Amino acid sequence: MTAPALSRDRPGAGPLEAIIRAEIAARGPISVAEYMALALGHPEYGYYMTRDPLGTQGDFTTAPEVSQMFGEMIGLWLAERLEHLGRPAPALVELGPGRGTLMVDALRAAAPLRALPLWLVETSPVLRAAQTTRLPGATHAAAFEEVPEGPILLIANEFLDALPVHQFVSDGAVWREIRVGLDANGALARGLSAQLPGRDCAPKGSWAEESPTADRIVAEAARRIAAHGGAALFVDYGYDAADRPAGPTLQALRGHARADALEEPGMADLTWLPDFDRLARLAADAAPVTVHRSSQGAFLAALGIGQRAASLAARIPSEAGTIADALERLCGPGEGAMGTRFKVLAITPSGATPPGFAEPTPSPGDAP
Ligand code: SAH
Repeated sequence: MTAPALSRDRPGAGPLEAIIRAEIAARGPISVAEYMALALGHPEYGYYMTRDPLGTQGDFTTAPEVSQMFGEMIGLWLAERLEHLGRPAPALVELGPGRGTLMVDALRAAAPLRALPLWLVETSPVLRAAQTTRLPGATHAAAFEEVPEGPILLIANEFLDALPVHQFVSDGAVWREIRVGLDANGALARGLSAQLPGRDCAPKGSWAEESPTADRIVAEAARRIAAHGGAALFVDYGYDAADRPAGPTLQALRGHARADALEEPGMADLTWLPDFDRLARLAADAAPVTVHRSSQGAFLAALGIGQRAASLAARIPSEAGTIADALERLCGPGEGAMGTRFKVLAITPSGATPPGFAEPTPSPGDAP
């Protein structure tokens, strides 16, 4: 990766920062979602458009890049769901496949999936090229809505958290949206919108993050599954009522370290933590489906990742330590691990609980 050319009007600013500042100068402050869409998705300079951000050389590492066991477990789960489907055959869909690693591992582990038409929803030309090399039979789409109507088996890992998100804060009396504008020196700076109408009063310090794109995709998955059958699996670093963070979650990552989200747009990954209670509600409100919830650690353990790790280690003893480390990273409860911080949400047609999830426990008010 080469350093971006310096813009003429502010030394140190890259080309995308100059574009965003010009846009704000002309139109006024923009929402965090608009800023994010430009920083990540600008056709020429957007973060995902210009690079492969994954792995030790990149800015972050995802579960499929930690170990083949992750994609294998997902593959087995999808193949089990396939057994419940009749004709026509479902489309196998992955949203934001990155390097294609998850799907390669899933198809190796679960042969019946290989007969399905494979759709990859991806906007980055760099990652599309990597995916085509590893999954030559796949068809690319720029948006989920472009995948033909019909039954689907859908997987999205660390996808929703990259979609543009709006941020709202309450000062105790009114809600305002956080906006990106320019300070007195012409540098990018956060500010607040005018009072937002139609939102209930909330205590000072209350906050909300809402991604219309993420909401639309989850609702669309639910609608298709209710109408045609299939299943969807969303996995992400997120939260629910039990572990909701104290403040807004949008953060920038560069070279595996935290960075300022407004600094050098296009050079850092920007992600937020989806609210899994909200996603579950959206799916259930969109269509008559059943929503299943778990943590990544509990989900993978229930699918048998422990046995898979043991058999891999027995087959390749020299790798036993690496495999144990990967298992801990994927399923462990610690701060540096993904087991509890990452959540899993599945959408299925109304009916039985799929593998990997506990039977719903009836709440006290439920009829027997
Ligand atoms: N699922 C992969 C990659 C996660 S990174 C893994 O687990 O390793 C996020 C992925 O989503 C990348 O492939 C990125 O290019 C893609 N992406 C980001 N925004 C997108 C959008 N609006 N539409 C489609 N894909 C998008």
